[in-house]
Formats: sequence, structure tokens, C-alpha cells
Amino acid sequence: MNKKSIRDVDFSGRRVLTRVDFNVPLDDEQRITDDTRIKATLPTINHLLNQGALPILMSHLDRPKGKRVPEMSLAPAAERLEQLLDGPSMAFADDCIGEPALDAVVKCPDGGLVLLENTRFHPGEEANDAEFSDHLAALGENYVTDAFGSCHRAHASTVGVAERRRPAVAGLLVEKELEMLSQLLGAPRQGFVAVLGGAKVADKIDVIKSMLGKVEKLLIGGGMSYAFLKAQGREIGKSLFEEGSLEAAQEVLGLAEGSETDLVLPTDLIIADAFSDSAATRTVAADTIPPGWMGLDIGPETKDAYADIIRGAKTVFWNGPVGVFEMAPFSWGTRAIAEAMAEADAFTVVGGGDSAAAVAQMGFEHGMRHVSTGGGASLEFLEGRELPGVAILDDA
Ligand code: AMP
Repeated sequence: MNKKSIRDVDFSGRRVLTRVDFNVPLDDEQRITDDTRIKATLPTINHLLNQGALPILMSHLDRPKGKRVPEMSLAPAAERLEQLLDGPSMAFADDCIGEPALDAVVKCPDGGLVLLENTRFHPGEEANDAEFSDHLAALGENYVTDAFGSCHRAHASTVGVAERRRPAVAGLLVEKELEMLSQLLGAPRQGFVAVLGGAKVADKIDVIKSMLGKVEKLLIGGGMSYAFLKAQGREIGKSLFEEGSLEAAQEVLGLAEGSETDLVLPTDLIIADAFSDSAATRTVAADTIPPGWMGLDIGPETKDAYADIIRGAKTVFWNGPVGVFEMAPFSWGTRAIAEAMAEADAFTVVGGGDSAAAVAQMGFEHGMRHVSTGGGASLEFLEGRELPGVAILDDA
């Protein structure tokens, strides 16, 4: 890694503004349903505490759009973190700047830490506003980022504060993410398989293009397959299809033809007569979707073919479920991808978002070499784009 990490700096006695990703899912009663993201930052928080630093944690949660939305408070995350750390005194500041924040920092006893309220309660966060960044930066002396999932955004807490506070370095989670994803970028084409699924072609088109030529096989699944099937002139019934995605799919098919990458599309599908887990279902060849039906998962032949390719690979990157895995009847394709990756004798990386959720839900997490905490960030990194929240850190 060409950036400094917290291993390179002595933070003892320092107030360290630490950007974490506590954007955790909450149920209707504000209970955290998955604390993976909080747990993922514990090594960095403990490292800072053990060095005698005072971590001042900043995070966003959801999209309050610059206003205080009580349902999007980080208070439940503070409670959960306190349980997980089991020891240090933990203060929660009910505003991330101003009196409540300053007060929490000043009153924090030695060995303790502070979590600031949702930074996105202020419009200055997403605007990377100078004055808002000044207010945040005033709370501490140095900067650490462990929020890999937010590193592709140039916001006040990811870039503005880092510009104002040096050293500005990577936490242990960001360091590991960059190490794993860089290893993918350097992997040889032979034996490199990428699986791309999910709903939105628009979100994945750049990564698909950037992977052409770099991977041996690119397996396509999920809702975005239908744009490709349609681009090949097939009937897709009521399957997911976004306006504008046809041209993108046509372009990719053309580019794939002239590349050294084999772009693989589903040959059969599980179709349903409604978007529901109690819908009538059928297995059909990919070119015979009847009118009124929709494809909701890859079929058994495709599932086995994809799993075989994955088992024979040396490097695998996967982003996006290949079916509507949230509904049991359409989860089998996604499960087969996860299972084959866990079984493969390969360097396996899951690129965040829904595929990471599927892997965790299906119990295959420990079979993977790395499960990224950043969906969008890992895709942008693999596209070769500079992540602003990483670029701003001190060079090694
Ligand atoms: P994305 O955010 O683009 O990675 O998309 C993830 C979502 O795609 C998940 O919620 C899946 O349920 C959904 N998905 C996968 N396959 C299909 C499909 N065939 N039709 C509709 N949605 C799908």
C-alpha cells in the first residue's frame, strides 16, 4: 500500500478524528439487525485505545439529507459499541459539531472514546463544506479512516477533515481492504473469474468494461442479465429491464467480442408469473421466456456451469446476487455461487453490498478470502478510479 496506516504513527495522548462506517441496518424499533460493520472497526478502535489515544468516531447512517431524523440516530450504534468494547468509557455526542460534541470530547476521561451523532444530519457533510469541515476538525488533532465503504465519496468527514488534520492515515480495515483489492488488480488473467449480478446494469457497466481483457471469464447473472439477453434479440417477458440499459449491454457485448474475456450469459432461468415467493415458477431455456413471466434466478444448468467454472478458478471476484435471493425460491443460484467460491482453492473476494449480505446470511463468510465492507467503493477501486478518501491520506 502506498499510503500510511495507523501502524506508522504514534497516537498516544492524541485526539484522533476517526471516520468509521456505522451505517448499520435498523428495524422499526431502532434495534441493530446486523452489527458486522461495527465489529469490523474494532481492531482499529482498540489499536488507538491501546496506544493511549482518544478516538473521536464520526459516521453517517442512512440518508437523512442534511436534516436531523431521529430514526437515523447513531445512538443504537453507541450502545452496541459499548457492549462490544466492554470496558472503556464511551460518550455519545448528540450533535457531531458544536457544544454537545466539544463537551463530550473535553469531558471524556483518559482511556475513553466518543461517538459523534450522524454527520449527515448536517448538509455540510455531503457538500464537503469548508465551514462544517472546520467545525469537525476542531474536535481533534489527527485523522484516521476506517470507513472503506465511504472512501469513494468526497464528503467532509472523509476528505474535508483529512485535509485539515495530519497525520491522516488508514485504519486497519481500510489497509486490509486496499491490500486485498490490489491483489485482485494484479491477478493474472488465466484462471481469473468475475461474477457480476444485481439489478442495475448502469451501476456495473464501468466495472464490466474495466474487467474485459483482465479476467478469463465474466459470468453475468441477476436482474441485469436481461438487458444482455434482450440485446441478443431474445424475448424477456416482464423481467427486470431499465430504460437505456439496452445500448449499454450492446456496447459491452461488442467490446467483449474483441477482448480476451469470455462473457458468459445464463442459458436457463427460473421464471415466475409474479414478483413474489408464492408465485408459480418454471425452469426454461434463456430464450423462451413467455409473455407475462419474469426471470428471477439462474436455472439449474447455468447454476452448475457457473459453479464448475468457479471451482476451477484461481482468482474469483463476485459482486451482485444472481437472483432475488431475498425470496427462498429464487435464492438457489446465489447460494451455488457462494458455495462454489467457498469450496474453490482460489483467492476469493466478495465485493460488498447484497452479495456480502447473501454470503453472511447463507453462512459462507468464513470460506472466503475476503468479504469487502464497501460495495460501491470496491467496484470503483477495481475500475481503477482513485478513491478520494484514500487519495487524501499521507503517502507512505
Ligand atoms: P444491486 O444493488 O444492483 O447489486 O442489486 C441487488 C438486488 O438485485 C437484490 O436485491 C436482488 O434481489 C436483485 N435481483 C437479482 N436478480 C434479480 C432479478 N432477476 N430480477 C429482479 N431483481 C433481481
